[in-house]
This record gives sequence, structure tokens and C-alpha cells, in this order.
Amino acid sequence: MLPKFALLPLLLALALPTCKKSHQVKTIGETPTPVPTATAEPSTASGEPAAASPGKVAVDQTAQVIAFGYHRFVNQVRRPDTEITPQMFEQQMQELKNRGISVIGMQDFLAWKRGEKNIPPRCAIITFDDGWKSQYDVAWPIMKKFNYPLTLFIYTEGVRGGHFGGGEAITWEQLAEMRDAGVDIEAHSETHSDLRKPYDKIAKKKLNPAEYEQWLHNEIVRCKETLEQRLGIRVNCFAVPYGYYNKHIEEVCMQAGYEALFTVYGQPITFRSNNDSLGRYLIEGNKPKVFTDAISMIATSTAGGAPVAEFGATNLQAKPGDGETVKTPSPLITANLAAFGQIDPGSVLMRVSGLGVVPAKFDPATHTVSYQVTEKLRDKVTVIIEAKSQGKKAEAHWTFAIAENAGAPAAASATGAPKK
Ligand SMILES: [Zn+2]
Repeated sequence: MLPKFALLPLLLALALPTCKKSHQVKTIGETPTPVPTATAEPSTASGEPAAASPGKVAVDQTAQVIAFGYHRFVNQVRRPDTEITPQMFEQQMQELKNRGISVIGMQDFLAWKRGEKNIPPRCAIITFDDGWKSQYDVAWPIMKKFNYPLTLFIYTEGVRGGHFGGGEAITWEQLAEMRDAGVDIEAHSETHSDLRKPYDKIAKKKLNPAEYEQWLHNEIVRCKETLEQRLGIRVNCFAVPYGYYNKHIEEVCMQAGYEALFTVYGQPITFRSNNDSLGRYLIEGNKPKVFTDAISMIATSTAGGAPVAEFGATNLQAKPGDGETVKTPSPLITANLAAFGQIDPGSVLMRVSGLGVVPAKFDPATHTVSYQVTEKLRDKVTVIIEAKSQGKKAEAHWTFAIAENAGAPAAASATGAPKK
């Protein structure tokens, strides 16, 4: 891992003029910090800043990270939702370089979130999902060309030899080779199922509540154990298949010792983003705009201006919650802004994607901002709330989804279009 970070200390030296000089800033590239076990630092799972400890350094809390997810790399795109050409992928990697966005490894990202390591002000994490062979023989060489660190999210039954591992699947030997070269390998369940649904794809069987708990345990915990034992690694991240999860799945993940859970709701990740639902931008071959939009999100938000304090949706008890899927197309949106501190009540502003600024109500007594949507929303909905707190701009944003058949009479349970 070390050689690929050779340039970063230089970048960091340029990037950290605001850090207190009295603190020794640990730069990426030094002796790797041992990853603490989840039980040693339970506070990180909630996203709350952990109490100061000897391992803490002055990290840049205004840095922002975007996480990208890719699937298959093919010359002829037939399934644009999961495929991309090697040429387009390489262009995107080049674009990160051109824009001064540093690609960092997953463990450096997590160390930053724990307050143990610094990262450059604008970063990206590159992840590949599902363990396709083209990741090994097409995309990995491109990553090596750029000297970019890489994270794989693997579902164990999809590895060749597993139940779903066909001819285009990666092998355990290839994974071992990638591991030896410093590729970070993380978990993506056993069978790549919608984990909210009590159905065992391999046994083709509907599960009763007790069976479901056991199965969920296998998908989340046994998957981690399999990867750790077969590859001799430590797995501390979980990407939920299709991005479908709920509070219970989140809890099982955090109890299993995962430090971070990744979804597919792309949004810039900040120091205060909760590790139990970190959004990734999934890049699709026919939607290059997703990539350019993601880049512009962090490009603009760090381009100076008033200091912005970012708050995670969980801290605000946001409703509908981050990553939630709701069945009504016109939900009541609420958030508690107590975490913003003392705010100027007249400065509270709510934006809703597709609607723009909405006439939200703010109640200073309860710190609650609310807006009853009157139109019908569709698909993904992002809410951005901003307010002035002691002269500084505070901001929070989160994303929820409207179920596909929302508002339909006698709606069946929502599934939505599967997204890997
Ligand atoms: Zn997947």
C-alpha cells in the first residue's frame, strides 16, 4: 500500500493550512494505523466524534469524499445499468486527476472518519461491486496505471465456485492476488438478495421469522467470516445489495463489527456523515451525468465561501429518513435542527429536489422544520436544509425514495427497480 501514497504527503502539506500547528498531523503513508475493533470504539458507528484519545490527530473536518461504485467493464455495453466501457472508465479516472480529486483507500477514509488520519480536501473512493472477472482483468490494470487504491465489495456465493459464480466471476485466487497488491476487499452479502425480504434464493424458500434472522446473520456475519478466513484479511465494510436496507439490517451490520455500511444513495460524504449509511454514486454506462454531477458536488461545495457545518440526517431525526423508501408520493418532511445549535429562525431554508425552495415551517420552540409536500414526488428525493448559526452556514442533506407504485390504490409491497 505504501508506494501508491508517495505523493500524498505533499498534497496534504498544501491542503492543511487551517489545522492547528501545535498538533502533529499524521500523513497518509506513514506506518499503517492498526484498525481498532468495533468494540474498542463503538462511538464511531453512530458518527459521533469519538472522545479525544492519544490516537487522534487534527484532521481536516471540512474535507469531502465521494464514493463511486462500478460493476462490469465491457467493450460493448448491453446492460447499461451495470456496465461501462473501459474507455469511459479510464476517462473518468483521468477526470478525477484533472480536477485535483485524490483517490484514497477505504482504510484511510475510515481512519479519517475516526479522526486518526488526514486526507486531502477533496477525495474519491473507487469501489467495484459483485466480483466480476472484468474488474480483475480490465479495470484493475487501469487503476494500477493511475496508482489509485481500490475497494471490492464481494458477495461470497458469486465468487467462482460459489452458487452464483459463473464463468464471468472472479476467483478466490484472483482475489488473493489483488489482496497481495493492496486492494481492499469488503463484504456485499452471501447471495446478493434484498435483505429486507425473507426469501432464501439458494434454497428457493420463503423464511419464517426465526429462519429469516438466521439467514440474515449468514448474509451479513457469515459472509464477513468467509472473506476473512479465505483471504486472511479483516473486513470492516458492508455494501447492502441493491442499496435496500432498514434499521434492523443496519443494527445487525453494526453488531457484526462492521465499521461502515454503504448504500447506493450517492451524496458527498463529510466528516459528520453517519457510518451506518454512507452513500455511493453507482456509475451507469448510459448516465455519464451521474459522474459529472458527483464531481461538481464536491467541486462547488469546497470552493470557498462561508464556512459550512455539515450535519448527518440521523442527528436531525429526519423524516422520511435517509435511505428510506416511502409509500406516499407526498410525504411530510420533518427534521429537528437542535444539532445546528443557536440558529436564526428566519434563516431556515428547505430545498427539495424537483421542487426547489419550499415554504417550510420552522418552530423555534421545538427546533422542528417541516413541510407537507403537496405535489407527487417520484424516485429519489434529496432534501437540503440550511440555516445560519452564529453567523455560519449550517447544512444538512439526505435522500429518501418514493416507492414505484406509491399512491396506487391497494398498493402491494414496494420493490422498485433492482439496482445492484
Ligand atoms: Zn451488488
